[in-house]
Amino acid sequence: MGLPPFAEVEMNQYPPVSMPTTVEQAWAEAQKPGSTFVAGGTIVQMRREQGFDMGNRFVSLEQIRRLKTMIETDTAIYIGAFATLAECLNSKMVAQEQPLLVQALASIGAPAVRNRATLGGNIVYGKGDSIPALLVLEANVVLYHDGLATMPLSEWLQQKPNALLTEVEIGKWPDMTQRFWLYEKVGRRETFTASLVTVAGVAVLDNDQTIKELKLAVGGGEMVPHRLLEIEQRLIGKPLTNELLADVYQFIKQTGTLVGTPFATETYLRMVLANRIVSFVDGLRGGRGDGKTNDSL
Ligand SMILES: Cc1cc2nc3c(=O)[nH]c(=O)nc-3n(C[C@H](O)[C@H](O)[C@H](O)COP(=O)(O)OP(=O)(O)OC[C@H]3O[C@@H](n4cnc5c(N)ncnc54)[C@H](O)[C@@H]3O)c2cc1C
Repeated sequence: MGLPPFAEVEMNQYPPVSMPTTVEQAWAEAQKPGSTFVAGGTIVQMRREQGFDMGNRFVSLEQIRRLKTMIETDTAIYIGAFATLAECLNSKMVAQEQPLLVQALASIGAPAVRNRATLGGNIVYGKGDSIPALLVLEANVVLYHDGLATMPLSEWLQQKPNALLTEVEIGKWPDMTQRFWLYEKVGRRETFTASLVTVAGVAVLDNDQTIKELKLAVGGGEMVPHRLLEIEQRLIGKPLTNELLADVYQFIKQTGTLVGTPFATETYLRMVLANRIVSFVDGLRGGRGDGKTNDSL
């Protein structure tokens, strides 16, 4: 009895991969026991190498044309779940319609990761840095589960239904309203670093310099990304006085649940969040944000 040839040993280490060409086929394949969807594979591969149970067969989404499509209507853009982060960053449509998303995607990984990693994988992973940006953009996810259905991303994060993510739908910002936005991923160093806390925001000011619309979201670390509705409510419709900003600063520092890590306590994360949100709102008084839509509006 001899050892099996080297090539056979190598082959046996890898589970089978099916390559469906339609969403329906992919879903049917995924119903077979032990199946895991794989898109860019950047998380799947890492988890597998770390010893996580990733099932015993993969369903690759790579051959499904529908999942790579990026289209726009008068009111929304649709990004296929298999669009890579690099493709989103190179898309004129995404740059023009949702510069906040571009800023978020540019903060993820390094070019080699962004060339493989997909937007769908970043969302389904559940802690991706695109999610806070997509939450403040009030994005919807289109899911396949014995038929197509659309649900707000915020609901998907609560329910995590067993489904194939096919597209992300993001409403366009109406041209005539100037919006200010905030996106910051705070890590342990400047670039190519995991997020300790990621914060995103979008604001619209009224003529009297009160905040008319405000959406804020947080993610990063081990946190499930979520909207910061209580903080939003404290700021909407109020004159942006120093007293209000001081009150909101204390509120953020003292309340809300953030998840600390071995490298950053919850208290530290709250302070970072308070600093970043209050400096964004303070900047609105001077017409500043991390970015803003057309100055001439
Ligand atoms: C070196 C390195 C650095 C990284 N840096 C960052 C970072 O800075 N920020 C960040 O957010 N992430 C980071 N990541 C994590 C990861 O690369 C991204 O989250 C990426 O977008 C995942 O996409 P993917 O296509 O590779 O997902 P995959 O690994 O293919 O899949 C991830 C999960 O989603 C499921 N899945 C994928 N697509 C679908 C779909 N359409 N429908 C249903 N389920 C699906 C898979 O089954 C799997 O459970 C990093 C990863 C590495 C290896």
